[in-house]
Amino acid sequence: QAKAAGPNNFQFFAEFMSLSAIKRLNVEVELQHAFDNKELRLFYQPKFDVRRRQMVGSEALLRWQHPQRGLIGPDYFLEVAEQTALIAQIGRWVTREVCRQLKEWQGSDLGNLPVALNISAAEFQLRDVVGDLRDSLHRYQLDPGLLQMEVTETTIASQEDKIGRDLTAIRRLGVKVWIDDFGTGYSSLGYLRRFSVDGVKIDRSFVHEVAHNPADAALCSAIVAMASQLQLDVVAEGVEEREQFNLLLESGCSQAQGFFYARPMSPDVLHKQAGQLLQLSAHGNLQSVLLD
Ligand code: C2E
Ligand code: MG
Ligand code: MG
Ligand code: MG
Repeated sequence: QAKAAGPNNFQFFAEFMSLSAIKRLNVEVELQHAFDNKELRLFYQPKFDVRRRQMVGSEALLRWQHPQRGLIGPDYFLEVAEQTALIAQIGRWVTREVCRQLKEWQGSDLGNLPVALNISAAEFQLRDVVGDLRDSLHRYQLDPGLLQMEVTETTIASQEDKIGRDLTAIRRLGVKVWIDDFGTGYSSLGYLRRFSVDGVKIDRSFVHEVAHNPADAALCSAIVAMASQLQLDVVAEGVEEREQFNLLLESGCSQAQGFFYARPMSPDVLHKQAGQLLQLSAHGNLQSVLLD
C-alpha cells in the first residue's frame, strides 16, 4: 500500500492521517510556540448596568496576536488547547494575567470593577483551578471580590462531583461564580439548586431573536424572573441591537454585554475609554457614545 502510494514516507503518513489530525498537530505546535513567545493576549469586554448606564465589570477574553495573521480568536485554537494539555498552561497564565491587570488598575477608574475569566471543563481535570486562583490572588494581594469566574452548564455536567466541590471552594475564596451560555446545556434548573452560583449569563442565542421571536422573549423573561427569585444576578450576552436591549429591559434584565455597548478591547483601549464607559451619557444612544 505504502509503495503504491509512492516512495515518499511523508505522503504515506499524510494519507493515513486525517486532514483534521494534521491541522490539529499544526495548531498545537504553533500554539505552544505562541505561548512561549508571549503572543497570547487578554481583551476585556465591558458589562453594563443598563438602567444606571454604568459599566459594572468586564470579561477577559483570550486572543492570539499572531505576527503574520493578526489577531486570532479562541474559536480557532481553544479546542486544540483543550484536547492537549496546553489549556493547563494557558489557563494558569490567564488567571495570573487577569490578577496582574487588576493590580495595575488599582487606583484608577477601573480599579473597583470586577473581571470575569472563563474556565473550560478540561481545566478542572488538567490543573488545580482553585489553587491557581488562590496563588494569583495572594501574589498580587487582591480583593477576591474583584475576580469572577464563568463556567458553562456543560462544564458542570462533565464532572459534576469534582466541579461541585471546586465551585464551593472557589466561592469560599470570595470569587463569584457565574453560569455562562445559560439555557444551552441540560438540567439548568437542577444546577441552580444544587450548585452554589452567584449569577447566570443568558446565552446569546436567546438574546439574538428576542425582538422577533415571542418564544425567545418568553424564555428571556422566565430566566430573568427565576434568577431574581433565587437572588441571582443575570446578564444578557450578545446584545447587538437597540430592539434587543429594549426588550430585555422590559423583561427586567438590567445587566447586559454585547457589541451594541462595547466590543472586547485591549486593556489600553479600555483604560482610555474608561471615563465614557463608566458613566454613559443620559441621551439614549449608547452606541454613538461607545463606538465613536
Ligand atoms: P463566552 O465566554 O460565551 O464569551 C462570549 C463570546 O461572545 C466572546 O467570543 C465575545 O467576543 C462574543 N461576543 C460578545 N458580544 C457579542 C455580540 O454582541 N455579538 C456576537 N456575535 N458575539 C459577541 P470570543 O472572545 O471569540 O470567545 C469565545 C469563547 O471562547 C468564549 O465564549 C469562552 O467560552 C471561550 N474563551 C474565551 N477566552 C477564554 C479563556 O481565557 N479561557 C477559556 N477556557 N475559554 C475562553
Ligand atoms: Mg464567558
Ligand atoms: Mg457566553
Ligand atoms: Mg460561549
